[in-house]
Amino acid sequence: METILVLAHTENDGSLAKPVREALHAAAMLHKSLAGSKLIVGLIGDNVQAAANAIAAGPVTKYFGVTGADFSQSRYATDAAAAEAVFKAAQATVVVAPATSRWARVLPGVAQRLGGRADTHVTGVAVADGKISVSRWYYRQRMEGALTRAQRPWFIGVDPGSQIACDCGAGIAVVEMVEVNLTDANKRTTVVGIREPKADAQTIRPDAQLLFVTGAGWTKKQADGQTHVPEAEKLILGFLKNSRASLGSSKSLVDLGGEGQAVLPFLSHLNQIGQTGATPRHAKGLSTCCHGEEPHTVGWRFIGERRAISLDPNCGWARGKADVLYVADAFAVVAKVNELLAAG
Ligand SMILES: Cc1cc2nc3c(=O)[nH]c(=O)nc-3n(C[C@H](O)[C@H](O)[C@H](O)COP(=O)(O)OP(=O)(O)OC[C@H]3O[C@@H](n4cnc5c(N)ncnc54)[C@H](O)[C@@H]3O)c2cc1C
Repeated sequence: METILVLAHTENDGSLAKPVREALHAAAMLHKSLAGSKLIVGLIGDNVQAAANAIAAGPVTKYFGVTGADFSQSRYATDAAAAEAVFKAAQATVVVAPATSRWARVLPGVAQRLGGRADTHVTGVAVADGKISVSRWYYRQRMEGALTRAQRPWFIGVDPGSQIACDCGAGIAVVEMVEVNLTDANKRTTVVGIREPKADAQTIRPDAQLLFVTGAGWTKKQADGQTHVPEAEKLILGFLKNSRASLGSSKSLVDLGGEGQAVLPFLSHLNQIGQTGATPRHAKGLSTCCHGEEPHTVGWRFIGERRAISLDPNCGWARGKADVLYVADAFAVVAKVNELLAAG
């Protein structure tokens, strides 16, 4: 009989982020499919009552909490100690946790301490023949594998964006507090601040409906024999502002900066989509001024509907990689789209 523990950390304001609700949805599905199983939530943070209350109407049977200022920040030693203590209190066999940056670096280590196993980047969980099975992608998202494990405890890190978020509903939860004895060594690391781009410079938006991808063509010589980088910048930023799309890039375009060529200053390697870049999840994707080569399109694995604008009717997008290819000048198309978006 499985005891399923969802491990979660609260945000700075005490709330639960969407990836936690996604992990909870996956765990609740396991709980429902496994007769006699228990579903427990372990919350870690400065104060966890509000977070527990926010999901109290869901199928969870018991809540554990580790609270206090020492647990408000992301720190390996304290997070690992808290996770281990909650795990022992819950007497869990399976741990389901959102693969946030905070948990992703802690949970495999906790699994090791407890003699368990950890699977990362899980995008699906299911029960078949009474056994839990998880699926994940391999070889840069080209192959999907499903696996089961006899080993317990089993730590399952669920990739954010891969599940429906549990709409558990609010109520009043009774949280049983778990004491964690920390030593000074556990508290050696301190988070002194967070450096992040200004809100209007933040171009990566995982929750956006649309992924807008720019390619090297935006910086290439155009029909008049000239490059038009400032105009490209204006058009792309205008589109992002109006559509609230997330911004991706081909490798060629982000690499140009390192080669000293004129590029779009708001792009970094974090925007890169593909085999050596990211594989974001969005309902739709629009590629502009980009060839659609295989290493690039690997990054489009989880994009629902793919469209592209390229001047080249023989580009990779035309060979079956896009649902719709517009053979057109992206400067002209995006200028017109921006005009329509601004008017509407
Ligand atoms: C091991 C390996 C890993 C790689 N990993 C990645 C990766 O993770 N991500 C990635 O992106 N690439 C990756 N690449 C590189 C990839 O193979 C391509 O070289 C790259 O994606 C091409 O970028 P691009 O399409 O922007 O540029 P280009 O190939 O130069 O294409 C530019 C396109 O813009 C079009 N264009 C120009 N002007 C306009 C206009 N006005 N309107 C419309 N279209 C216009 C042109 O017709 C052309 O099709 C990898 C390569 C290797 C070998």
